[in-house]
Amino acid sequence: MPVGTVASVKGIPQETLEELGAQIILGNTYHLYLRPGVETVRRMGGLHGFMAWPGAILTDSGGFQVFSLNELRKVTEEGVTFRSHLDGSAHFFSPESAMEAQIGLGADIIMAFDECTEYPADGERMRASMEMTARWAARSKKYFEEHKGEVPWFSTQEQQIPPRSATRNDNEGGKNSPTLHSGLRSSGRTNTSAPTQPASAPTQATPLLPNGGEVGHFQASWRSPGQPGAPPPHHAKTERAGDPGAVPTSAERTQALFGIIQGGMDRALRRESAERTIEIGFPGYAIGGLSVGEPRELTREIVESTLEHLPADKPRYLMGVGTPEEIVEYAKLGIDMMDCVLPTRAARHGLLFTSEGKISIKQARYAQDEGPLDASCGCRVCMRYSRAYLRHLYASSEVLAQVLNTIHNLSFYLDTMRRVRHSIQLEESSLSL
Ligand SMILES: [Zn+2]
Repeated sequence: MPVGTVASVKGIPQETLEELGAQIILGNTYHLYLRPGVETVRRMGGLHGFMAWPGAILTDSGGFQVFSLNELRKVTEEGVTFRSHLDGSAHFFSPESAMEAQIGLGADIIMAFDECTEYPADGERMRASMEMTARWAARSKKYFEEHKGEVPWFSTQEQQIPPRSATRNDNEGGKNSPTLHSGLRSSGRTNTSAPTQPASAPTQATPLLPNGGEVGHFQASWRSPGQPGAPPPHHAKTERAGDPGAVPTSAERTQALFGIIQGGMDRALRRESAERTIEIGFPGYAIGGLSVGEPRELTREIVESTLEHLPADKPRYLMGVGTPEEIVEYAKLGIDMMDCVLPTRAARHGLLFTSEGKISIKQARYAQDEGPLDASCGCRVCMRYSRAYLRHLYASSEVLAQVLNTIHNLSFYLDTMRRVRHSIQLEESSLSL
């Protein structure tokens, strides 16, 4: 998932994200809560309407950013008091207010409020933190269940979603466009292609969204941008006996709230966290609290051991990783979703991922290099520009350098995941023979 911190993947317009085949992007609740504010986004129909993005969106709970503030925060059982990095003003996030903010922002997938345990931490601290995350997960779910009807695009109506066969975009270029929301089309602001279903194979457990559809196929009915107010909340409960983590049926179109597993670097605590979170019941589970300074080998060990305790039929999301090699490795272990600022942040610093490894475009050795950035990459940057030109743009601090570098890095990451999905599909089809 490309990271769009403040409802923007830095330097990249939404139409370019579509062209690159991004199916889902991530927004940061902490940043959006501070600016432009939840109510502003809600009035625009949620993030989809506000940023004119028809694909899927996931928001984090705000917890990770708040915990990164260190000097500016105070944690209690009730929640976290923190100061804005923008103007120093005081704010408070609790499981309830983090849910309220995420419901207002209106992403498709939202995250329970958790405490990201620092590294290193002793056993007592890791246990106390994990237990608080478990209590906060229960409070997050309770608030969500009581208020989910307040999402800007909530609906209890059966929606007419075109069948998959009719919505597939047989686009010659091989890149897949995400679903185009009917609201966007009806608003007349966009007139590109027909609604599409990503043709790439889903990963082992394709993220199931509240309509029982898949990421990229969900938002057939989001509100047209600019429509005033949110629809009145309906609290029509859908019978979901048996499985507390079951997704709502198609009669109840709302967000999917994922739980987060914590427990520091302790395998037993991770297991307990997984069991307690599963007991609360969510339609997807994230592994949080990793990539916080621990050695890579330890990250892998904890991911592997935690995965053993997570249901294989629900999406499994590893937060905040990684390099191209790591995302392939984690996908092989059974991770379905990942987000990382690395491709976009590295691009802005002139670090580019290629099929032959990472290169730093600022180096003088590229000043006369007429070749493409990556001869194996089909992105529009590699198809058109030379390394010499990209190096010149970077050396001249041109804005275009950041834009082109980011397009390539995102393309490289998205292609990597496309190959992962393809290999999973091949494996599955060979198993079914
Ligand atoms: Zn490229």
